[in-house]
Amino acid sequence: MRVYGIFGDPIGHSLSPAMHNAALAAMGIEACYHAFRVPPHRLKEAISGAEAMGFGGLNLTIPLKEIALEIIEADDLARAIGAVNTISFDGKVRGHNTDGKGAIRSLQDAGVRLRGSEVVLIGAGGAARAIAYTLAGEGAEISIANRNVLRAEELAESIGGSAFGLKDLERLIPRADVVINATSVGMREGNPRLFPAHLLKKGQVVFDVIYSRETELLKDAAAAGAAALDGVMMLVYQGAAALQIWTGREAPVEVMEQAVRASLRERRERRR
Ligand code: NAP
Repeated sequence: MRVYGIFGDPIGHSLSPAMHNAALAAMGIEACYHAFRVPPHRLKEAISGAEAMGFGGLNLTIPLKEIALEIIEADDLARAIGAVNTISFDGKVRGHNTDGKGAIRSLQDAGVRLRGSEVVLIGAGGAARAIAYTLAGEGAEISIANRNVLRAEELAESIGGSAFGLKDLERLIPRADVVINATSVGMREGNPRLFPAHLLKKGQVVFDVIYSRETELLKDAAAAGAAALDGVMMLVYQGAAALQIWTGREAPVEVMEQAVRASLRERRERRR
């Protein structure tokens, strides 16, 4: 039986095993997908070990995505983004990044037209970088706002967008067609808002990459009559893109979405 897996540290929170095991079963592939806790200083050995044992492929999550670039050969997109979230073994160990593809497919799935749209992307970390590079290829006008403005400037310069600080959101948000939160703000209940709710309006699309809970941003968007999109389908589509790299086959995204939403429900019920 082929083994696939995700490496991270910590890794207990990962929804990838549930999502990928459901997908592999639906695809009729005799394989299993496990989560492995791998500390950063053991990543090189862990990747070599997985290759030696004939693993079908790997995903990487925090804090290993950036470190992997120093260890394996990555494709142009992963190198530009500065992070690897998928590894394939086809005689060679190759790094890829499917996060941006996942985000764009999720937006397109929701009917968002990106070409010519004014997009405000908040954040300049790993998720934001993946989204920025892929979005730029779709012809969107991108304004990047980040707490650390220097990081926003570096990212904006590399993709041909404009850079701002979080204070500028006051004037950026009202004129945006699409607002994307790619920061970790909103992961926990009680996190302060990045900008006041009244800046949002009907007709806008608000996409929050966070998938673990309904964030205040998404609640504000819905209350303002804007379209609110959470990070679940980004997670599903980045996983589908990884499966396609590993197997050459189209992944069953509906099955994957159901598995993710069921795991999230279970987790919420356990917390009650
Ligand atoms: P990261 O590389 O650590 O970047 C974190 C970002 O959040 C940075 O832009 C950082 O700003 C900003 N930030 C953190 N705390 C802040 C605060 N208190 N106020 C304002 N900005 C703050 O993390 P990441 O890997 O990009 O992940 C970001 C989020 O995306 C996480 O919630 C993660 O779960 C989610 N994610 C979702 C998917 C999906 O498939 N849906 C995929 C990947 C990631 P500075 O630069 O100023 O520090």
